[in-house]
Amino acid sequence: MLFENLNIIEPIQRALKTEGYTKATPIQVKAIPPLLEGMDLLGCAQTGTGKTAAFAIPILQGLSSEQKNLKEKRPIKALILAPTRELAIQIGDSFKAYGKHLNIRTLMIFGGVPQRPQTNSLARGIDILVATPGRLLDLINQKYIHLNQIKYFVLDESDLMLDMGMFQDVKKIIKHIPAVRQTMFFSATMPTEIAKLSGSILKNPVKIEITPVSSPVEIIEQTIYHVNKSNKINLLVHLLKNKSIASALVFSRTKHGADKIVKALEKAGLKAQAIHGNKSQKARQLALNNFKEKKTRILVATDIAARGIDVDELSHVINFNLPEVPETYVHRIGRTGRAGHGGTAISFCDQEEKPLLREIQKLIAKAVPVVTVHPFPLVEMPLELVVPPRRNSAPKTSSPNHKRGNGTGASKNNVGKKERDRYYSKNKRKENSN
Ligand code: AMP
Repeated sequence: MLFENLNIIEPIQRALKTEGYTKATPIQVKAIPPLLEGMDLLGCAQTGTGKTAAFAIPILQGLSSEQKNLKEKRPIKALILAPTRELAIQIGDSFKAYGKHLNIRTLMIFGGVPQRPQTNSLARGIDILVATPGRLLDLINQKYIHLNQIKYFVLDESDLMLDMGMFQDVKKIIKHIPAVRQTMFFSATMPTEIAKLSGSILKNPVKIEITPVSSPVEIIEQTIYHVNKSNKINLLVHLLKNKSIASALVFSRTKHGADKIVKALEKAGLKAQAIHGNKSQKARQLALNNFKEKKTRILVATDIAARGIDVDELSHVINFNLPEVPETYVHRIGRTGRAGHGGTAISFCDQEEKPLLREIQKLIAKAVPVVTVHPFPLVEMPLELVVPPRRNSAPKTSSPNHKRGNGTGASKNNVGKKERDRYYSKNKRKENSN
């Protein structure tokens, strides 16, 4: 459907044209009309569907119709909560782009940077605030922010906020917002806790479900490489030396792992940068910009840092580790193949990760094709020699797949490095642990 048929005001339509949008995406077609009528919305959708514009356009249109007294300081009228800084920046940039012909001010606030520039902007008055919960609560407590005139409230990526332990902050923030408001609640998945919160803050919402997480975008070419854990980095270097990979987002399970991958790639002469929570906001933004501007070809990220990454024409996603939660696989590969572009998702699977692969294939209801001919094929080890991941490298999420190895207990699984080395040397494989 064309945007002209969605009752969108001319200045926004003009901005959408500049962005290169011609047709509305399914979530925009479904969400924009009820939102323009002032209804609440419960959206089960992931990034990549166009959900930001689906809520940003009606909010901008609503705000533009209000009479502004330009002499008075503007109260904040719309609040969008997002879990990560990257996502907050991306959402804020979208509001600015779609609202560029309107007299509306948007501000993004998040932690990890000095608060002064943010409080200075707040003092000048803004209409739309896009924020991460921690910094927002901080500034509310310091009385820099008042939410008593909020008319539009968006909770984006709620499931990720829950995973990141932000729910207490979110609940505290909600107490500062007037009960009479329009609320839009988005989550890629609907665990009980999310359903409970949405039930308590939404009034007769329109429910929209787009691209269920079990059906990854069909245009993404997916492949699996079975490889020993110790050879993953060699395989990665081998693949990335192929210059036909225009851009690659490599997923690492841990922050430490991401740094190790970058070091190993650089040692092999491949320029790469990492993006994760231990990096400063400045370093993360720089790495992201370099990647977006194609100055770096390879970005290594953890799941949380990558949630906010929106890169047009990302050609490859590489899962260095398979995710513990199968839905995360769909989120990860969804970074490529965005807005209609094709893409390739490559996943490494070591012996221990085979149960994770089975879970993923069950979720997406198909077998991912295996690349059998490559220089580092998996050499199967007896199960008792499979070493479980270090305890501190496991993610917080609990999943049945946390039980690794042969399930006979830690002592048996926790074999020494010597034994592994002996096994590998026997198989003429070089131990090059990552
Ligand atoms: P989102 O799901 O909001 O993260 O959006 C995913 C990507 O799709 C972003 O790069 C948007 O700029 C882009 N996008 C959103 N709506 C449209 C549209 N109607 N036509 C083309 N691209 C779009």
